[in-house]
Amino acid sequence: MPIIEELLQANATYAATFQKGHLPAPPARHLAVLTCMDARLDPAHFLGLAEGDAHVIRNAGGRVTEDVLRSLVISQQLLGTSTVVVIHHTDCGMLTFRNEDLRQKLKQKLQIDAAHIDFLPFSDLEQSVRDDVAALKASPLIPASVTISGFIYDVQSGKLSPVT
Ligand code: ZN
Repeated sequence: MPIIEELLQANATYAATFQKGHLPAPPARHLAVLTCMDARLDPAHFLGLAEGDAHVIRNAGGRVTEDVLRSLVISQQLLGTSTVVVIHHTDCGMLTFRNEDLRQKLKQKLQIDAAHIDFLPFSDLEQSVRDDVAALKASPLIPASVTISGFIYDVQSGKLSPVT
């Protein structure tokens, strides 16, 4: 079965017994999570979050970007979140390449010059968490009253460890 068909079939099953249509939009636990798009990470499961509990913002690496700041401003100013948790993870794809590698690939495959794009790879996992927590704390768009902390999720054990 083609993947889209599979998705629609799974959704029909899901919607048949769906009972959470009453939930309000503001996250019940006033929490925003920033994490990687890695397919092995299921933040709702490993953090014990239910529908309606939190905003989960995901991108390659779980890095702080302009668009992440855009989402956090909306999350905090319009939907009342007051805690941000940044979660990077072991075996992240962002540890496996440098900007130059990906730029070279784009030049070869798509004939485009991506010299102006920082894909935000990193070589030190803990430092990348510290950098992103620091970037959030330094942003004038994030109020000082917001609690920001950083963690590493271990894809082997499923454990979350704080980064200080
Ligand atoms: Zn990752």
